[in-house]
Amino acid sequence: MDEIERLDRREIGAAGRETRAARAGLRALPSVQRLLELAEAAGLAAGGLEAVGGRAALLAAVRAALAAARAEILAGAPAPDEAALLDAARARLAQVPVLRPVLNATGIVLHTNLGRAPLSEAAVAAVAAVAAGYANLEFDLAAGRRGSRDAAVEALICTLTGAEAALVVNNNAAAVLLALSALAAGGEVVVSRGELVEIGGGFRIPEVIAQGGARLVEVGTTNKTRLADYRMAVGPATRVLLRVHPSNYRLVGFTAAPGLAELVGLARETGLPLVEDLGSGALVDLTAWGLPAEPTVRDSIAAGVDLVAFSGDKLLGGPQAGILAGRAAVLAPLRRHPLLRAVRIDKLSLAALQSTLRSYCNPHDAAAELPVLRMLATPGPVLRARAERLAGLIGGGAAVVPVEGFAGGGTLPAAPLPGWAVALSEGEGTPGGGADALAACLRRHDPPVIGRIAADRLLLDVRTLPEDALPTVAVAVRAARNEIVAGAVREQIVTRQS
Ligand SMILES: *Cc1c(COP(=O)(O)O)cnc(C)c1O
Repeated sequence: MDEIERLDRREIGAAGRETRAARAGLRALPSVQRLLELAEAAGLAAGGLEAVGGRAALLAAVRAALAAARAEILAGAPAPDEAALLDAARARLAQVPVLRPVLNATGIVLHTNLGRAPLSEAAVAAVAAVAAGYANLEFDLAAGRRGSRDAAVEALICTLTGAEAALVVNNNAAAVLLALSALAAGGEVVVSRGELVEIGGGFRIPEVIAQGGARLVEVGTTNKTRLADYRMAVGPATRVLLRVHPSNYRLVGFTAAPGLAELVGLARETGLPLVEDLGSGALVDLTAWGLPAEPTVRDSIAAGVDLVAFSGDKLLGGPQAGILAGRAAVLAPLRRHPLLRAVRIDKLSLAALQSTLRSYCNPHDAAAELPVLRMLATPGPVLRARAERLAGLIGGGAAVVPVEGFAGGGTLPAAPLPGWAVALSEGEGTPGGGADALAACLRRHDPPVIGRIAADRLLLDVRTLPEDALPTVAVAVRAARNEIVAGAVREQIVTRQS
């Protein structure tokens, strides 16, 4: 009897009060060792196990399944058979939280829950190159002494945006917080009521201003704000004029807001810095690829905005990062602020960002190299052909349908991207039921496949699926269908027996 089994026996003894039937039920349970062997033979150990922490995770899942079975037996339930115990262990293993690659079949290119922008091949190689060893992260090779962490990307950002200086931090939320803390603490920040937005994950402009130690002064109304509203709000305590790009929503109808040039005029007139939270911050004009216009960082800098903050992993298509570009004199207090140390970017992200920015030095390269731009710009006929190929690989019960996808990540909200998906019909007629079960099976697959449910059907949108992933997705769908059929058969048997 090994250690594990001795522990099992002790637990059973501790339960104490079991009836004769329960005792028989407990005796009928396989040992941990036996279930572990069964689990390995059944392939629970294959594939995904490494991701969930190796054999220790499998042992934990097996033990947990047995413990749950014992509790049920003591509560009067019959002993589960080995197949049911294996299923329980499999289910527990699937619930172990672990960071792992997934296949995104939602069609949402910048899916925040799925890690936003996939990196280019060059960026991945750049990350690997600095990850495995040392790098001149804060070392000036020419001078042989301490250097600046973001010197390498600062020059690139300035070239690409026309800015005089730039600073890079952990993400755009940190960039905005740092800017407000360094420029406005103890004073007032003037913002239009139409721009007091909440971005996903609890980033709300009024709260960020408060966290930065400043007071929010709201001007205008929800739908209409005029330059005169800003001018009236400016007083001796005003430190910053803040403009926020309402990334994830649009005001339509009876609306008005001053143009950038007007706000820049007021900033010059009052001597206040105009700070713009641009959110996504496109580096290139997206209309070149038939996409909706999104304000570019270069446009803001050219218009005279003093400081622009934007994300590295939204439309830019790089790693999680926050970029601040603008006038050197306005950036100077940010460089000295103690918060900078707390929100600094790490070397892996910096390597990926440098590589991503390099792709933009030739806009043609950016479209070819960066997965985000490539996915957003994939032509309809290509998507349709991809969906047809996937449907063919799946076999029966898969229809090719037109869909509306979204860029995601709070970008291009008013611009549905027409695309194509494979619709799996399991769910039809059973609201939520079939499609939900299928989606859950696909999420348990290795690698997990994440689709989206619409009108009781599971949609696999191919915009975000690389061509070489299609066979894997088809295998996952067939396995999921088999699993559902096997589950239904088992249920029938159980129903007949009882
Ligand atoms: C997305 C967004 C942020 C937050 O950026 P992260 O890089 O996700 O931290 C802040 N402001 C606006 C307007 C945004 O769209």
